[in-house]
Amino acid sequence: MLAPLGSALAVVAHPDDESFGLGAVLRALVEAGIEVRLLCLSAGEASTVGTGQDLVATRREEVLAAAEVLGLRSVRLEALPDGGLPALPADELTLLVAEELRGARLLVGFERLGVTGHPDHAAATAAALRVAAARALPSLEWGAAEEIATQLRERLGAPFAGFAPGAGDPVPVRVDRGVQECAIACHRSQDPNNLVLRTRLALQGDHEWVRLVRRGVRLRR
Ligand SMILES: [Zn+2]
Repeated sequence: MLAPLGSALAVVAHPDDESFGLGAVLRALVEAGIEVRLLCLSAGEASTVGTGQDLVATRREEVLAAAEVLGLRSVRLEALPDGGLPALPADELTLLVAEELRGARLLVGFERLGVTGHPDHAAATAAALRVAAARALPSLEWGAAEEIATQLRERLGAPFAGFAPGAGDPVPVRVDRGVQECAIACHRSQDPNNLVLRTRLALQGDHEWVRLVRRGVRLRR
């Protein structure tokens, strides 16, 4: 369904979002013949794990390695403030996404509520959705089904959100976790075996949930 689109731009807030979050979806796009590029808006310097080392340099190496594993065409790594994306002028983020679009026919990102509760995720996706709307391009949001988000909140206290109501119905897609796991493993500084990630992947099994909005018109299952 998406392969004729040819190329896609994934927009994320932090190094590891492309693997811990979008990894299986990005790999599915690559395997469908879509050329996928990555725009990462921050260097991830505010991470609370992996401290005690040069996180900027380390995480840059990690995301570049992970992108290669996933088969992404290119990575543009910006250095906007990790944790500060919502405070930036919206136009600044929008301009970066528009600059990096370079003919891509699909925008990909976290679900618009941010999925894990990090406000940077929602800000990154908002920028991608503004560009998608302005260019009449389709957008693909990856997120957690409501029942999985609820379990992560209740069992682990992780502030996950499901899909925003009224923005279109999410649909499950079958994915292969193999390459995603290799990409996740590249992010050694970020505890690839952390309990929240492991629990989410176990709950989701071989399915991810996505929302595809084409030119503002929601696709139905
Ligand atoms: Zn993140």
